Amino acid sequence: MNFDNLKKNEQGLVPVITQDYITNEVLMLAYMNEEAFYKTLETGKVYYYSRSRQSLWLKGGTSGHYQHVKYVKLDCDKDTLLIKVKQEGAACHTGNKTCFFTEVESVWNEEVDSVNNVLTDVYDVIVDRKENPKEGSYTNYLLEKGIDKILKKVGEETAEVIIGAKNEGNEEVVYEISDLIYHLSVLMVEKDVNWNDILKELSKRR
Ligand code: AMP
Ligand code: ZN
Ligand code: ZN
Ligand code: ZN
Repeated sequence: MNFDNLKKNEQGLVPVITQDYITNEVLMLAYMNEEAFYKTLETGKVYYYSRSRQSLWLKGGTSGHYQHVKYVKLDCDKDTLLIKVKQEGAACHTGNKTCFFTEVESVWNEEVDSVNNVLTDVYDVIVDRKENPKEGSYTNYLLEKGIDKILKKVGEETAEVIIGAKNEGNEEVVYEISDLIYHLSVLMVEKDVNWNDILKELSKRR
């Protein structure tokens, strides 16, 4: 893709929406000039043009919170870029995962959002424990014991799902399926599989 083909604003910049590739969360909006655009494509790390500093800006250059490109797309009228990234740490310089944490108006029940994201949240917490081990964490205990321990737990929890399902009512099976999904998530992190991989595979089968 050639930068000349993009429609620039008055300052010669193109706005970029950056999205987390696993959760689809919108992380930030920033701008690219020609240099930032090509550096991003060449290096696979996202560069922007900082309007306040008036210079090329490697996202994560000082914080270490780099953004690794998964894909770059252009919108219908060629004036906005959308980038999906693997975000290291927080996208926002305030330490928030996303820059969009200030609510202005909402007719949306936040609970719906949190239920939708709970699988990826659990996954993210496990990744975080792996990167920043925490004293007394059961997840760290499992990760330190290694794959055989994790597989043993997956087997045990699977058996408990079966037992739970044989019993009256659904309370027990809900509990056991949750246990199983948690242990499967630990296994996924250990095997470097994410929910996107699973959903992609499932949707292929439809
Ligand atoms: P970083 O690129 O993460 O190393 O941060 C370097 C500087 O860029 C920070 O001190 C902020 O001034 C600015 N910055 C970082 N992330 C953002 C962001 N998401 N939105 C606006 N400015 C940012
Ligand atoms: Zn359109
Ligand atoms: Zn547009
Ligand atoms: Zn921010």
